[in-house]
Amino acid sequence: DLSDTHDAARAYELDRAHVFHSWSAQAEISPMVVTRAEGSHVWDADDKRYLDFSSQLVFTNLGHQHPRVVAAIQEQAAHLCTIAPAVANGARSEAARLIASHTPGDLDHVFFTNGGADANEHAVRMARLHTGRHKVLTTYRSYHGGTHLAVNMTGDPRRWASDHGSTGTVHFFGPFLYRSAFHATTETEECQRALEHLEQVVALEGPATVAAIVLEAIPGTAGIMVPPPGYLAGVREICDRHGIVLVADEVMSGFGRAGRWFAVEHGGIVPDLITFAKGVNSGYVPLGGVAISDEIHATFAHRVYPGGLTYSGHPLACAAAVATIRTMEDDDVVGRAARLGEDVIGPGLRALAETHDRIGEVRGTGAFWAIELVADRATREPLAPYGGSSPEMGAIVKACQERGLLPFVNFNRIHVVPPLTTTDDEAREGLAILGAALDATA
Ligand code: PLP
Repeated sequence: DLSDTHDAARAYELDRAHVFHSWSAQAEISPMVVTRAEGSHVWDADDKRYLDFSSQLVFTNLGHQHPRVVAAIQEQAAHLCTIAPAVANGARSEAARLIASHTPGDLDHVFFTNGGADANEHAVRMARLHTGRHKVLTTYRSYHGGTHLAVNMTGDPRRWASDHGSTGTVHFFGPFLYRSAFHATTETEECQRALEHLEQVVALEGPATVAAIVLEAIPGTAGIMVPPPGYLAGVREICDRHGIVLVADEVMSGFGRAGRWFAVEHGGIVPDLITFAKGVNSGYVPLGGVAISDEIHATFAHRVYPGGLTYSGHPLACAAAVATIRTMEDDDVVGRAARLGEDVIGPGLRALAETHDRIGEVRGTGAFWAIELVADRATREPLAPYGGSSPEMGAIVKACQERGLLPFVNFNRIHVVPPLTTTDDEAREGLAILGAALDATA
């Protein structure tokens, strides 16, 4: 009986006494108590309802309490809660089949992990063993997870405290025209110069030392920078020419978020490995994994793969994935996300930009959008510094929350990343609140 855990005041009190929170100064936080959630909404301790434009940490792709996913977890729990990874199990096998049926090309083999960071750790381990090389190239402005190697691969301030320079990770600039590292003025120039830069980084690091290039197919937390046409194909070509494994981190961008099953489809490429988590089962039970090509799979056909997890392919998590993916197929959730972006979120944000000059840029696709807030449109000075916050950003977030909207915020950006199942009306309501919050704080 869990009824005593439903008391909101007690939940807050015990949290402050005993729960240690991620990425936080423990004495400076005051977490919202969420008492219930359904679809695109959550409710706080005062029973105030919020429209969730963040999908929490961009993972509730089917929204909260989707009946098919809840029922699948309940059915699996009644049937078989858990089993060791070495055996075969129906929920795990079917989840792997479903995932393989949607990954591009021959990425038909799935290694299950508990989340995104360990998926990236294992992808790099596979790439290193497959190539016999050590280095990993990743982009600045990226996030790959909180474990040791994954946080070192990360190209944002969360790396700084843990980067002791011993992991063989090297960072390069991906394309980002709005804040171009290459003085580019068009997407074509940005694409070409970013590829030339990567080519030089590979040459100067020594191609024979580079095991993998790991990039987010569309960088997520770092700003939802949709790569220009030709960029991903160019990276694929560099990898092919130098025998480098291409890993697409689709932990945030995969499973419909970008209006495709996987965001690499926008670039028309097939990577050698795809890492996933979050949307694979809407985050109802922790699950991540690596989708593996035939060629890399063959490396481990008669050679032991030196890695594993107690909960690899946990039946409850896999049952949630089976129900999530079947729901996405049956309800055309991916098409829905694409239309939500094209018809509602994209046009809505562009309309806001016309009347709010603190919006410096609007970018995104599917249910995966960001607005870049600036103090000055001409200089593009961000409304909060890189790696930090500001009173102005804090005021906008507060104004959103007062009006019943939960935005996803990172430095000077607000991301519009609602569940893919958000209705057009809900999305319009959220955009109106965002506009009102910008007006109220101008
Ligand atoms: N990779 C990307 C692109 C992510 O956005 C995240 C999490 O936000 C991760 C990896 C890490 O995933 P997890 O927190 O499940 O370890």
